[in-house]
Amino acid sequence: MASAFEVPACSVCRAPAVVTQAYSGQSLCERHLDRSVRKKVGRELRKQLNIDGPTTVLVAISGGKDSAVLLSMLVDLIGSRPDVRIVAGCVDEGIEGYRPPSIEAAAQLCEMLDVEFITTSFEDQDFLAMDEVTSSLNSILDRTPEAPRLPCSYCGVFRRQGINALVEMVDADVVALGHNLDDMAQTVLMNLTAGEVERSRRLAPHTDRPAEGLAPRIVPLRWIPEQEVHLVALHRGLPIHNEVCPNAEGALRWRMRDVVATLEEDRPGTRHGLVRSLDAIRAMTPPEEAGAQPIRACERCGSVSSRPVCKACEMRDLVGVK
Ligand code: SF4
Ligand SMILES: [Zn+2]
Ligand SMILES: [Zn+2]
Repeated sequence: MASAFEVPACSVCRAPAVVTQAYSGQSLCERHLDRSVRKKVGRELRKQLNIDGPTTVLVAISGGKDSAVLLSMLVDLIGSRPDVRIVAGCVDEGIEGYRPPSIEAAAQLCEMLDVEFITTSFEDQDFLAMDEVTSSLNSILDRTPEAPRLPCSYCGVFRRQGINALVEMVDADVVALGHNLDDMAQTVLMNLTAGEVERSRRLAPHTDRPAEGLAPRIVPLRWIPEQEVHLVALHRGLPIHNEVCPNAEGALRWRMRDVVATLEEDRPGTRHGLVRSLDAIRAMTPPEEAGAQPIRACERCGSVSSRPVCKACEMRDLVGVK
């Protein structure tokens, strides 16, 4: 019988395993983990990305492990196709101590993979740097008590706008995002517990349900657990910045991380189950119905919006930017 201290052997080659997947019963060494992740990402990519004609893929990178692995996998899988142009883009939210070193890691990654790299910042998008939003949150709430209480609510809206700006800079056809299985499961649970099924239906991938006027988002890492993404990043020697944003801790997502991790430990396969439920909910609504939301241009800034004035303009008002 194996002692508790013995390293399990890879189910494929018997080399020492770096991961034991409770959800699949397999143990894998570094090399076979990388191979298995690449295969799963390739399969998702074929499902999510239709390449018919010259296609520019904007990969939204942050300097963190998820988008680093995504970019490296995309370069492997489709980077040499003559009809595909891969561009990596990073949005600088203006968070001192966190963003500058991660942008540095993102730039190094692009150099290593020989990928074009572009950036934009919240200030470029006529918003405030997140540090300024955070320090003026109290006065924002004094003026408007119903304003969002957490920095992430502002950051999320503006990051989306930032990514749209990056799309315009290179005329991208599609945006690849680095959400892993844990992220997806957390989002599904957050939306379900808030009763926001409609929000879940609008999540990426948008392959068969693009919103008019917006480059569809794809999420090729959606079945890869966070821990495995991290191991692949280490195995590939990708430059990554591992710190967590100082504003993350108060956010609901932060608590959902714990909830999902505990559920997964109690019952391996929970994360897969949550994402499969999402797909089942989506399958109940035909794509044409799901995309039926009226899409128009924001009266103020012209960006795509389902309402007369877009969320970003609403938030510009809240923080006092004209
Ligand atoms: S944790 Fe919140 S504030 Fe920090 S980068 Fe993420 S969304 Fe922005
Ligand atoms: Zn192996
Ligand atoms: Zn607007």
